[in-house]
Amino acid sequence: MEKIASFTIDHDRLLPGIYVSRKDKVGSEVITTFDIRLKKPNIEPCMTAAAIHTAEHLLATYIRNDEQWGKKTVYIGPMGCRTGFYAIFAGDLTSRDILPLIKDAFAFMADYEGEIPGSKRAECGNCLDHNLAYCKWEAKKFLDEILSDIKEENLRYPE
Ligand SMILES: [Zn+2]
Repeated sequence: MEKIASFTIDHDRLLPGIYVSRKDKVGSEVITTFDIRLKKPNIEPCMTAAAIHTAEHLLATYIRNDEQWGKKTVYIGPMGCRTGFYAIFAGDLTSRDILPLIKDAFAFMADYEGEIPGSKRAECGNCLDHNLAYCKWEAKKFLDEILSDIKEENLRYPE
């Protein structure tokens, strides 16, 4: 079988950031898949399962409620390696296009108080496995260390 595109990125050279993972055509429309990478692969410890689970709930809630981006959102979900998220939006997009949205989303997550959206037993497949405090810590770290003063190298995959 052929290697899929996301496995051809050199993960040893990948930094935390926001990257265009791929573009696909569905009918006449282009959809863009973003790699929202919080951790340097195989160097930094990945997020805990509970932290990334809570982050998934908050990130998806924020983005799907955004006036501009909500209706363009196809999918938001965590990577199995727990170093980041994939987000798919309708449109032929660049990392800079979604940077303001992602900054706002992570600021929302870093400051979030109250009940985790969709975390009731009837709403979630593993409602005991959440950690809001750790999710907030991860969101603030990504915001402070990467998003607040993002560099070109954090917006473009290594060549
Ligand atoms: Zn859940």
